[in-house]
Amino acid sequence: MNNTSPIKVISILGSTGSIGRQTLDVIAQKPKNYKINWLTTNSNIDLLESQTKKFLPNGVVIASEKNYKEFKKKTNFSGEILCGKDGLTHLASQNNDLLVSSLVGFAGVEPTLHAIKLGQTVALANKEALVSAGGLITSEAKKSGAKIIAIDSEHNAILQCLLGEDFASVSKLILTASGGPFRNTPISEFRNITKEQALKHPNWEMGSKITIDSATMMNKGLELIEAYWLFGLGANKLDVVVHPESIIHSMVEFCDTSTKAQMGLPDMRVPISYALSYPKRFSFNFPKMDLAKIGKLTFEAPDYEKFKCLNIAFDVLKTNPDYGVVLNAANEIAVESFIKEKIRFDQIPDLIEMALNKIEIKNLLDIEEIVELDACTRRYSLETANTL
Ligand code: MG
Repeated sequence: MNNTSPIKVISILGSTGSIGRQTLDVIAQKPKNYKINWLTTNSNIDLLESQTKKFLPNGVVIASEKNYKEFKKKTNFSGEILCGKDGLTHLASQNNDLLVSSLVGFAGVEPTLHAIKLGQTVALANKEALVSAGGLITSEAKKSGAKIIAIDSEHNAILQCLLGEDFASVSKLILTASGGPFRNTPISEFRNITKEQALKHPNWEMGSKITIDSATMMNKGLELIEAYWLFGLGANKLDVVVHPESIIHSMVEFCDTSTKAQMGLPDMRVPISYALSYPKRFSFNFPKMDLAKIGKLTFEAPDYEKFKCLNIAFDVLKTNPDYGVVLNAANEIAVESFIKEKIRFDQIPDLIEMALNKIEIKNLLDIEEIVELDACTRRYSLETANTL
């Protein structure tokens, strides 16, 4: 099916996660515009079953083998049912008008890369794919002509601000950050932060990995690296401003000092709907922003001493952006170790820095080398987490 068709054929990598569920919510508002091709889950087979009943996909993939067997035993779904990595690759090579890549973490890298090599349009929510393999993904996209539309609200905002503009006239991309739940917590209390406290985000409803990343501000660090690869501007043209109300989703400053901002309520369905209807806009029934009610918007500089992860990400960008794979893998292990109460909240950046100092990168990087570096960083970080 080509892109001029009124119906877009869509597959979703990770349809039972937070972004996957919200993507299906958006699609349910416009059933005549979209046809669901494939859906996937890792372990939430009950939700996947109910999604198959509602959206009638052609096939599903279940990443975990144990859950795949269980699903096969009890499902009434009559389409194709595949398992594991091969299943995800199969899905990524289907005839999709749009592949929504919303797996969490490094797991999304290979299927996303596969779709990009085939020239597919990818709506990317899996920021870790660009952080870990941004050089490879963007060069493959150039070769195949694949389009990447960011779902991440900041990058989606920048995409909207850049429409109709000459890239050469951009002087800065300014990513906004809510500052997370510990914006006003003194650094001296960081060592006592519990996982229950860190899992509460003031503005956004998200999965647990990204919520912890927001609490350490590594989420903004990952987004800086994501922006670096997506928009191809140097680290010196990227900046972060803390904006606790999360109404401005990001800004672009131009060479004449004029600055464009994209605004809206913090609701991920809005950037998702833009990615789904891009380059058009469809009308959706979402709550509207009332600025008079919101009253005021505030801004402050990030506290780089308190939120070390932000500095670590800037350093990676300035020294060698290919180190994103190490940063990402160490961060995934650090977050997991914190949730399992193996390390303290304030040790998350320490563990990432140790991995960045330890792991060496030669000239980057094909996918095998990236997978190997990811695995080796994970091994090192797991061992190190046990000694902290
Ligand atoms: Mg974001």
